Parts: sequence; C-alpha cells; structure tokens
Amino acid sequence: MGQLSGKVAVITGASSGIGKAIALAFGAEGAKVIVNYLGGDNERGVENKAKAEAIVETIGAENALAFPCDVSKREQVQAMVDAGVERFGRLDIAVNNAGIEIKRDFLDVPDHEWGLVMDVNLHGAFYVTQIAGRQFVKQEAVSGRESRGKIVNISSTHEDIPFPGYTSYCVSKGGIRMLCRDLAVYFAPMKININNIAPGAIATPINQSVLEDAEEKANALSEIPYGRFGTPEEMASLAVFLASEQSNYISGSTFYADGALALQVTKY
Ligand code: NAP
Repeated sequence: MGQLSGKVAVITGASSGIGKAIALAFGAEGAKVIVNYLGGDNERGVENKAKAEAIVETIGAENALAFPCDVSKREQVQAMVDAGVERFGRLDIAVNNAGIEIKRDFLDVPDHEWGLVMDVNLHGAFYVTQIAGRQFVKQEAVSGRESRGKIVNISSTHEDIPFPGYTSYCVSKGGIRMLCRDLAVYFAPMKININNIAPGAIATPINQSVLEDAEEKANALSEIPYGRFGTPEEMASLAVFLASEQSNYISGSTFYADGALALQVTKY
C-alpha cells in the first residue's frame, strides 16, 4: 500500500517541473491525482494540455484527471476542485505549486507585472487553500485517519532571503510564508496541516536560461554547497512526506530543500 493510498490530491501547475514530479510521485504512492495545468487556445495551453494528459496516462487514467485552470481565477479553481470531488468523491491534499517569476529592476516594475506575480503566486494559493479547506471540513472524516487535510506550498528560499531584481517574486513567496504560519494556527483545531517546501535552485523549466548559459550556470553552482542543482524528484519526496499521515504533528513549518544554499548565500 502506498503512503497516499485512498487520498485525493490536487497539484497546481503540474504539467512541468516540480509539479509534474509531485503528481507522478503522488500517483506512485497510491493517490488519485488532479493534474492542474494552465490551459488556453494558444500554443502554450495546447502544449500544457498534452503534457498533463501524458502524466495522467503514466499514473493511469482511472486514478488521475487533467484539469485546465488558471489559479489566479477563483471561479476556475472552484470548478477544478468541484470536478475532482465529483470524479474521485473527496479531496485530501492540495499542493500550491503553480508559480511564476519576472526579473525586473524594482524602480522599473510596472503595476501589471507586480499584479500578475501576486495573482498567480499568492492569490492563487489563497484561492486553492480556501476552497480546498472548505472541502476538507465539509467532508466526512476517514476513520482511523487523524488528518482532515494537507496543504503543501511550494514556496522558495526567497520567502525569507532577498533577491533584488525579483522583488515581486520574493514578496509573493514571503506572503506564502505568512499564509502557512497563520493558517497552521487557524487550521490546527480542524486537524488540517499546512507546510512549505522552500526549494533552492532546481533543474526545471523556470531556470532554463540559467541552465543553458555556461557562465550563469557555473556562477549558480558556485553558490550551492552541494555543488549541483536539485531535482524535481527530490522536492516530490518531501511533498509525499508532508502529504502523508507521517507528518500529522507538523504544521506551519518551512522545509528548505536547497543543498544548504540559503545558509551560505554570498550574492544573488
Ligand atoms: P515550472 O516548470 O515553470 O513550473 C511552474 C508551473 O506553473 C508551470 O507548469 C506553469 O505553466 C504553471 N503555471 C504558471 N502560471 C499558472 C497559472 N496561472 N495557473 C496554473 N498554472 C500556472 O517551474 P518549477 O521550478 O517547477 O516551479 C514550481 C514552483 O516551484 C513555483 O512555485 C516556483 O516558484 C517554485 N520554485 C522553483 C525553484 C526552482 O529553482 N526551480 C526554486 C524555488 C521555488 P507554464 O509551463 O505554462 O508556464
């Protein structure tokens, strides 16, 4: 029996990178998985759909559902959770993974860029957490299971550590840090756990430009005590733990998964 057998999970931004690895790991641990992707009639939306459907095929169509939803739109998040509950009967885990970053000198950041980063990274997590939380408390508790629900946020070391040039990103992740800490207290009587994973530098599409530029890559590697980028699978194994019954006494915590990067940042 897998560590997540009998549980239903929604993972946002699951068509690539860390979200994809989490979806596959959750599926392998026996969860039913709602594989969220950013849809649309454009090339990006069509590509994301194909990627999400391939993940569903790997997990097995009876145990997974690909669902298009822009997490920055409350009504789309509600429709996704409703569809997942209709298909699988309940919801036990929500992973706030969808995220974007935009590099811009602070004095030049236009309102629409600032708003977009907040809408996706912070407001998206608010919608998903609130809508999932409402579902957790209204559904019947599973006998023998203490936890009524698990929220796992994919935050960043930048929830705490400055990164000039990425101020909107840092502020959005700082918001996720406080969302986690505040809701850990609020959710405790309901036996809902919420925790953050703070990845360091992970080899995913979000870092494509760094990975493809030899000099930038060497610079980045020189900052990481472990001497390598992390893998999406290494984030996924921590997410499995935080979504499982093994972590029932843990809430409001941030887990750095960064090869000790945050402990010895000399420059960004
Ligand atoms: P990624 O491959 O770009 O994953 C982000 C995913 O979110 C993509 O599938 C993206 O779709 C999706 N997405 C973007 N906007 C969305 C929206 N409005 N609604 C739904 N989905 C949306 O990069 P990643 O590294 O796996 O990032 C996952 C999370 O880890 C992010 O929250 C990121 O901030 C965090 N993180 C990553 C690193 C790292 O080094 N990789 C470090 C710290 C934190 P598209 O592919 O269409 O853009």
